[in-house]
Amino acid sequence: MCGIIGYVGKREVAQVLLDGLSRVEYRGYDSAGIAVLGESGINVIKATGKLANLKSRVGQSRPQGWLGIGHTRWATHGRVTEANAHPHIASGGRVALIHNGIIENYQTLKKKYLADEEFLSETDTEVAAKLLGKMLAREGDLHAAMRATMKELAAGAYAFCAISADQPNQFVVARRSSPLIIGVGEGENFVGSDVPAILPYTNKIIYLEDGESARITPDSVEVFDVNGKPRAAKPKTVNMTLEAAEKSGYEHFMLKEINEQPAVIESTLAGRVSKSGIDLSELGLTAAQLKRIKRIQLIAAGTSHYAALTGKLLIEEFARIPVEAPIASEYSYSNPVIDKDVLAIAISQSGESADTKVAMELAKKNGALTMAISNVMGSSIPRMVDATLYTRAGIEIGVAATKTYMAQLTALTLFAAWLGRKRGEFSATEEKKLVADLKEVPVLMRKLLASKLVGVKRCAARYQNVYNFMYMGRNYNYATAFEGALKLKEISYIHAEGYGAGEMKHGPIALMEGTFPTIMICVDSPIRDKVLSNMREIKARDGVIVAVASEGDEEIKELSDYLIYVPRTREQLSPMMTVVPLQLLAYYTAINRGCDPDQPRNLAKSVTVE
Ligand code: GLU
Repeated sequence: MCGIIGYVGKREVAQVLLDGLSRVEYRGYDSAGIAVLGESGINVIKATGKLANLKSRVGQSRPQGWLGIGHTRWATHGRVTEANAHPHIASGGRVALIHNGIIENYQTLKKKYLADEEFLSETDTEVAAKLLGKMLAREGDLHAAMRATMKELAAGAYAFCAISADQPNQFVVARRSSPLIIGVGEGENFVGSDVPAILPYTNKIIYLEDGESARITPDSVEVFDVNGKPRAAKPKTVNMTLEAAEKSGYEHFMLKEINEQPAVIESTLAGRVSKSGIDLSELGLTAAQLKRIKRIQLIAAGTSHYAALTGKLLIEEFARIPVEAPIASEYSYSNPVIDKDVLAIAISQSGESADTKVAMELAKKNGALTMAISNVMGSSIPRMVDATLYTRAGIEIGVAATKTYMAQLTALTLFAAWLGRKRGEFSATEEKKLVADLKEVPVLMRKLLASKLVGVKRCAARYQNVYNFMYMGRNYNYATAFEGALKLKEISYIHAEGYGAGEMKHGPIALMEGTFPTIMICVDSPIRDKVLSNMREIKARDGVIVAVASEGDEEIKELSDYLIYVPRTREQLSPMMTVVPLQLLAYYTAINRGCDPDQPRNLAKSVTVE
C-alpha cells in the first residue's frame, strides 16, 4: 500500500517525484503529497483525490530544490483529508517524513514523548514524524535520530523516508515489513516503494532488508544493518522494462491485462515444459526434501487465495498430498499445526502482502519447508523462502488482479504435476497429455478473446443496476465463482457472493426469485449433471441464470437466460477459461456504471499492512 519516491540530484525534483508517483499510484490513490527541500527550506504540497489533483497544484507553484520525497496514500489511520495526506512535518517544518505502513503503538508513543506537541492530522505517521523531530533535537543527526525512532516503534510496519532542512544534502530511509528499495544513479540517487517508481532513471537497485536503514546523498548510499552497523550493499541490476506500464491503445490497463492472458500463460510455461515433460529444477528442491512432504499449506489472500483453492485440487489430484488452503490473516493467529514435514507455499502477486508474509514467518519459525509463487523478483516473500516459482505476468497495473491470477493458475498446474511426477503419483503419459492440453489453452483463449463476447456485454448492460449477484460453481470452478464475484465487487461496487452450487440448497436458495441473477459456471466435468440439477432448482424458483458453459452445450440453453460459451478444455484447466468472461463482465459492468476499473475506490494493488 502507498507509493513512495525520494530523489536527490540535479534534475527538477518535483518533476521526478510526480513522475515516479504516477508509476506507483496503483498502490494507493486517496491523496498524495510531496516535500521539496530548496533554498527556502522544505516546501510541502498535498492534495486529496487522484494524483492529477496534486499535479495541478505543483504545476501552479513549481517548487525548486535538489532533494525531495513524494507519497500516494492508502489511508489506514484517519480519513482522506489534506491534513492526513503525507508528507508530515515536525520541528516547525524543518523535518518532513513519508510512511508506508502502520505504527501500532502510536498512541502510547504520543502519550509518552509527545504530550507537548501540536498535531495537525489524525495519522499514526505524524506521531513518527514528531518523534523523529524530537530525536533529531537530541541526536543532532538525521540518521541517528531515525535509528533512535526505530527503537521506539515496537509494533507495526514501516517504510520511512525523511528529510531535514538542517542536513540539506541527504535523506534517510528505514524499513520494517513494508517494502523499500534504493536506486543508485550517477551523481543522483533514488528511493522507491518498488522498482517501477524509479526504473526510467536507473536499474541498479539495493534492496533494504527488514530493520535496516540508509543515509542517501547525491554521491553516496550508506546502508546500516539491524544493529545500526554499516553494511556493504552492492546494487543488483534488475532486468525489467516499463513497456508493461503503458496502455498500448486499450482504454484501461485492466482490459489490456485481460487480453494479455494467453501470452502470460505462454511465458509462465516457457522453458519449463518440453517434449520430455515439466522441469522445475529451478526451484532447487532436492529429491529428499520433496519426498519428505506430508502436507502442503497454500497460504494466500484475496485473488491469490482463490488460485490457492484451485491449487489444492490440482495438487491433491496429481500428487496425492493433502493440501490446506488457509487465508493468510486467519492462519497466522489460529495456532495452525506446522512441522518440518509441511511445505508452506505463499501465493502473493507482489511478494509483499503483509498478511501472507506474517503467515510465512510463522511457518518458517515452526520448521516448515517454505516456497513462494510470486510475480515480483526480489520482493520480500521470495527473499525469505527456500524456493520460489516466479509467475511471469509482467507488471500488473490494474488494481483488480487478472493476468497474475492466470499466471498463478498456470504455475500451480505445473507445480502440481511436477510434484506428482517426482513422487511417482503422476505418470509420464499423463504428464505429456497435460503439457499438450496446457499449451492449447492460450490458443483457445485467444479465440475466446477475439470473439465478440456479445453475451457478456448484453449481460453487463442488463444487470448493471442490480444490487446483488450470486456466482456459483463446483469442484474446479468452485473458486472461479469466488473470483468472479470478487472482480464484480471490486470494480463495479455491486455486492456479489461466490458459492458452491451444491451448497445452494443449504441457504442461498432462499434468495432466488425473478430479479435475482446467478452466474452459473457449468462446463464439461464429471459433475456437470449435478450442476444442471442445481440450475433446474433455481429455474423452478424463477431465478435468473447467466450460464458460463462449454461451447456447443445445447442442453444448457433452455436453463439459462444468458449463455456465455467458452472453448472446451479438460476440467482441471477450465478455471483458466471460465474466469475470462467473468473478468470481462466485471469490467463492462464497471464501465456502464461509470466506475474506474483500474483504480477502484478504497483499494490498493498490494496490501502491505495487516
Ligand atoms: N498509516 C499511514 C496513514 O494512514 C500510512 C498509510 C499508507 O501506507 O499509505 O496515513
